[in-house]
Amino acid sequence: MSSISILLCSLIYSILTIGNYFFKKRVNSVENKIFSIILIVNLVGILLDISSVTMAHTGIHNFMFDAVNKAYIFYLLAWISLFSFYSLITAFDDNYLKKIEKVFIGIFIISCIIIAILPLYSKVENGSFYTYGPCATFLYGISTLFVISIIISLLCNVRKIKSKKYLPILTYIFFGTAATLIQASNPQILIITAMETFITIFMYFTIENPDMKMIEQLNIAKDSAEKANSAKTDFLSNMSHEIRTPLNAIVGFSQALKEENLPATAQEEVNDILMSANSLLEIVNGILDISKIEANKLEIVNVEYSSKKLMKDIISLITARIGDKPLEFKTYIDESIPPVLHGDHVRIKQIIVNLLTNAVKYTKEGSVDFKVSTVIHDNICRMIISVEDTGIGIKQEDIGKLFTKFERFELEKNVTTEGTGLGLAITKSLVELMGGKIVVQSVYGKGSKFTVAIDQVIIPKTLEEAGLDTDIEDVVEPFNAAGSKILVVDDNRINLKVAARLLKDYQINADLVLSGQECIDKVLNGEKYDLILMDDMMPKMTGTQALQNLKNIIGFDMPVIALTANAITGMKEKYIASGFDDYLAKPIDRNKLHAILKRYVKKSDEEVIDDQAEPLEETVNNRNPKFLRAQGVDLDHGLELLGDMETYDMTLEEFIEESKTRLPKIEEYRLATDMANYAILVHAMKSDCKYLGFMTLADLSYQHEMASKENNIAFVNEHYDELMNEVGKVLTIVKKYFGK
Ligand code: ADP
Repeated sequence: MSSISILLCSLIYSILTIGNYFFKKRVNSVENKIFSIILIVNLVGILLDISSVTMAHTGIHNFMFDAVNKAYIFYLLAWISLFSFYSLITAFDDNYLKKIEKVFIGIFIISCIIIAILPLYSKVENGSFYTYGPCATFLYGISTLFVISIIISLLCNVRKIKSKKYLPILTYIFFGTAATLIQASNPQILIITAMETFITIFMYFTIENPDMKMIEQLNIAKDSAEKANSAKTDFLSNMSHEIRTPLNAIVGFSQALKEENLPATAQEEVNDILMSANSLLEIVNGILDISKIEANKLEIVNVEYSSKKLMKDIISLITARIGDKPLEFKTYIDESIPPVLHGDHVRIKQIIVNLLTNAVKYTKEGSVDFKVSTVIHDNICRMIISVEDTGIGIKQEDIGKLFTKFERFELEKNVTTEGTGLGLAITKSLVELMGGKIVVQSVYGKGSKFTVAIDQVIIPKTLEEAGLDTDIEDVVEPFNAAGSKILVVDDNRINLKVAARLLKDYQINADLVLSGQECIDKVLNGEKYDLILMDDMMPKMTGTQALQNLKNIIGFDMPVIALTANAITGMKEKYIASGFDDYLAKPIDRNKLHAILKRYVKKSDEEVIDDQAEPLEETVNNRNPKFLRAQGVDLDHGLELLGDMETYDMTLEEFIEESKTRLPKIEEYRLATDMANYAILVHAMKSDCKYLGFMTLADLSYQHEMASKENNIAFVNEHYDELMNEVGKVLTIVKKYFGK
């Protein structure tokens, strides 16, 4: 009867384990699926064993008794097959599982047939019950085969044995073998079912079943972290876009100022402004690039380009960056590099300039070596670009994190070195997008070497044949183009003014209009222009749409250049494909504008009249800046962007004029719940207010812009009075200021 008590104990434990296991949430893994079957099979086995022992002791020896005994043998076969299958998948990977699955099922079915056919006898002797005969012997044989497979799986994975998953397997090897031997030599001692129950319960504690609630919480946390990350990226990219417009003014006006005959100190300060504005522009571009890379929106745009010009541009840029730093800049450009290549030269330049800028930044003295060698195979030129420096070097443990965004090292040593930690992350992504490779070697304290390999297609043409610039100009000297007519179209008045200022250096008095429609009207009125500079992102009619309308005018043949802050690579090709003659990114780069003017505008024979001293427009001096400051206007902010009171006053007058038409329209769009147009107008109001230092109104307009972009009509209506009150305040201040 002791066998019955052991079996009853096993039954209780088995039921408890099943209850515990099936009521808890589980990870959906193969391991868990097998274990679920083992648990059920084990419970059935215990019940069969209890029935068989009870029947034997109560003297029931009928057909039912034989069936129960046979079923029990099937149970033993099922348990050992499942357990050895479990050991094998624990030891090997999923691919292996697919291979052995069919073999296992095959062996199991054949064994079931043999067990069903072979006879099984049972006996009650001295109060003990046991089964024997060919069927039982076969079961011992096949079990031994399975045990061997378990041992093999262990031997093949000796190194993993420490994992707790192996505990039940090891336990089985020892206890299972011992129990089988005891059972074989003493058939009357019934310990197999108990031993299998013990191992099954033991397995329960070793199967990795993490707390599902925690996993759910982790998943929620992961989702919200991902959302926050993408919101951050969107925010950065929106901000960067917003920053580009005022930067346009800063760079443009500073470039213009640089040309003036300023006193030496002022000249130096203008240079500093220009340098800072340019580095801010680099940061903003970096953020825009990384957000595009993360959103998989960065495109590689391949065009034909001059390899020599690319290298020359890079070398002169870096030479200027080195300035008077005691660094020797050694360059070696392979002479055999084909003159015309096909690829994304803008991005290649960005990669090389990033590496060289870092080499210059992180090297106090010594040298920076820039080498470009080539391997030519058929029509492919592999450019092997290396940048080596004798700088601070990178610690071995930091090399792995080098290409991760926002990672910067040695911050104590580099407190004064500017940087965002984005350069190398962008560089690596660009290299990989072009199918290239980048490797780093560095000895901490001695220097670093970055090597990039990129394949470019060789175009078997000369520079002339490819229509590429053969003269590589270094100095930009504005020429006299008096008499030339240029029309600038931009919905932002400040941008118009920057363009006008830059064109003034060429003695060009540009016509300025605020919309595509005005541009079309001018052309329809018979105005002739040597060049039209057209902004693209304008409300109502984009620059591209305006161009299409212009092209529909019979006889229209004026060159039109796209002018936009959306300065990403590939834009030039897109604009050219949509009919523009060329493309100028904002903030307008003097050199690029110069190249365009050289191409489209005639030089004048007239003598250059120095009218720099002349004000742009008539000035009014009877206004007091103190008054504005006292009214809480952030005049300094306004002056930072607009330069002087003269320009400020002009912009203010324009703001008043603009408000006369803008404000009724804002009201109209709000009432019509036309949030798209409402957003455009409050956005424009926000930009103007920022330029003029009306910061509270700028903030409120921004809130309305955001709300209307999200179609949050309730917010707009609720806060509309607040916005209009502030508009009223601003207009009163302005009227008083102008003494109206
Ligand atoms: P940034 O230069 O703007 O900080 P990067 O992504 O270009 O960002 O570089 C990441 C970091 O890698 C740098 O902050 C610097 O610590 C290290 N690093 C990059 N290039 C070099 C170099 N040539 N020598 C030493 N350290 C470097």
